[in-house]
Amino acid sequence: MSRLCLILFGAPGSGKGTQAKLLRQSLGIAHISTGDMLRERVASGDPLGLEVESLMKAGSLVPDETVNRLVEERIEQPDSVSGFILDGFPRTVHQAKLLGELLAAKGIRPLVVHLKVDYNVIIARLSGRRLCPTCGALYSVTPNVRAASEVCDYDGTKLVVREDDREDVVRARLLAYEKQTAPVLACLKEAGYPAWDLEGAGESPHAIARKIETLIRDYRAGGEEARA
Ligand SMILES: [Zn+2]
Repeated sequence: MSRLCLILFGAPGSGKGTQAKLLRQSLGIAHISTGDMLRERVASGDPLGLEVESLMKAGSLVPDETVNRLVEERIEQPDSVSGFILDGFPRTVHQAKLLGELLAAKGIRPLVVHLKVDYNVIIARLSGRRLCPTCGALYSVTPNVRAASEVCDYDGTKLVVREDDREDVVRARLLAYEKQTAPVLACLKEAGYPAWDLEGAGESPHAIARKIETLIRDYRAGGEEARA
């Protein structure tokens, strides 16, 4: 069976990170988060890492070719032998095209999963979070379950809304995500890769992960039969 490449899409607050971790364990494949990959590379201090660091410090975007090269090296590491999950990549249509060439050269056909979560659910989820500015504890505040008088259980500090979780900030992040992602998803679908939109709310993270595993297994079983 060929190596599995799962490209995972999901808006901030969709549970994408949680799914990537669950699937990494259950499928025994690597979880490649572009953000982590870039940070690890900077920490390594090698010439490419230094180049990335100077770009990030200057607030510039790391060029698509560079990110692509890092992904190419990363998928050759031992933990990616049976497959890998791409999280946060490709982010642009150009990156998607470069990735398509890279995977084609290696005989890998990627699968695309898009976790869809109603934006009102995400806004309620994120804007309902409270942070203790003293110890960093995170609390969930829903209309039904209010954190008792909104103070920290550990130290009594008044809880605050994280800047990133403010409703207007969340809305802006979701809009930016959609604007950036829609053309990339369209490009991957146009390339003919199997792609699924999956409801990312209303069930436990484990139940959603099992659904994704089933989709992948059924697709691959079908493919193997077709080739037989
Ligand atoms: Zn606290």
